[in-house]
Amino acid sequence: MNKMTVKDLKDLKGKRVLVRCDFNVPMKDGAITDENRIIGALPTIKYLMEHGAKTVLCSHMGKPHSIFSDEVKLNKKDKKKVDAGETTAEAIIEKAKKDEPKKLTLAPVAKRLNELLGGKVTFASDVVGADAQAKVAALKEGECVLLENLRFHWEEEKKDLEFCKKLASFCEIYVNDAFGTAHRSHASTAAIVEYGLVKTAVCGFLIEKELTVMADSLEHPTRPFVAILGGAKVADKLNVISNLLEKCDTLIIGGGMAYTFLKAQGGSVGTSLVDEEKLGYCKEMLEKAKSLGKELLLPVDTVVCKDFPDPIDAPVEIKTVVSKEIPADMMGLDIGEETRKLFADKIKTAKTVIWNGPMGVFENPTLAAGTIAVAQALADAKGATTIVGGGDSAAACTQLGFADKITHISTGGGASLELFEGKVLPGIACLNEK
Ligand code: AMP
Repeated sequence: MNKMTVKDLKDLKGKRVLVRCDFNVPMKDGAITDENRIIGALPTIKYLMEHGAKTVLCSHMGKPHSIFSDEVKLNKKDKKKVDAGETTAEAIIEKAKKDEPKKLTLAPVAKRLNELLGGKVTFASDVVGADAQAKVAALKEGECVLLENLRFHWEEEKKDLEFCKKLASFCEIYVNDAFGTAHRSHASTAAIVEYGLVKTAVCGFLIEKELTVMADSLEHPTRPFVAILGGAKVADKLNVISNLLEKCDTLIIGGGMAYTFLKAQGGSVGTSLVDEEKLGYCKEMLEKAKSLGKELLLPVDTVVCKDFPDPIDAPVEIKTVVSKEIPADMMGLDIGEETRKLFADKIKTAKTVIWNGPMGVFENPTLAAGTIAVAQALADAKGATTIVGGGDSAAACTQLGFADKITHISTGGGASLELFEGKVLPGIACLNEK
């Protein structure tokens, strides 16, 4: 890791530090249902507080409208509705202004942070407005203020220069610790530094940990190195597949993605999810694996249903068939028992394992066995570095109680996938080098 971290900062006493966190936590009826992201941010915040910094915390929450901006912009979904005459822009904004300050406020996060940090955290009811300015100005050494949801301003995602200037006026030092949004180039994640508005820009402990474990494992893996990819679509993971094939010894493909590969090999996949446009790409990847001498494992048996469950957790009738011989009226929705064993045996002998994406429609309990088997195999891979790249696979490991048996569960699904792709994340690229 060649980026500076908070540990490299000298003399934090009395300095105002802006920390971009990822407090986009799941909420239900105003209560936080999973506080992992808050806990993940604590080491950096505590370090700054203990060293006497005046800490300004900021984050987004969900996908709100820009209700704090003078000029309000509609998202694509709204525009479609307006164009179709279903509603008006005014009605959408009026509703957003009524609902979103309650639904997507960061106030509950500030409250929880205040409990966890000994009553030293206040909350600003705006982002760069009068309340934020007053609360930042009132900060004493070792205290924090959390600003309201950054995305209540469209300027955040559009990297607006004036908005960046206002944020930058709150600090002498910028810390990025929001791994979950490090693949986005927004005002608070990258532009504030890219525009030269803050000269000292470093990463926090959470980003440092994510990078050290994931980037190092990708670049210098202890072998055998097994990568597992699942999830719905091949198209979403084109570069991930190609990059991982170069780095790993075995690439395992399950989930909805597998059927395009199986069809590319001449298999019959019934009504399973297939991306016809990507059949050529899959053939290319199968060739690439062969020419690089890499193993590419696909399902050998498949759990099939007549229809996709609706609702997703509805009871389903299943049977197991050979993966390349799926009946014309059936669709593959999970890996079969033989495949679970095949994949698990490979995972258990690995020294480095990375995993992203479920093996089946795991939201349905009858179709979750493949995903559970892979999570179990990672938990059983003794002596191996095991990494779960966020999203559904991370949720599966946590829900199954395997989290403490996995070396690293990433806090960023999209960001970790981009790392697996070999991309440099904008939120990290902009930081000072050591
Ligand atoms: P992704 O966001 O690409 O990681 O995909 C996750 C989604 O893939 C989950 O909601 C799963 O239900 C879905 N999925 C996994 N396997 C299949 C399958 N065989 N057919 C359809 N969807 C699937």
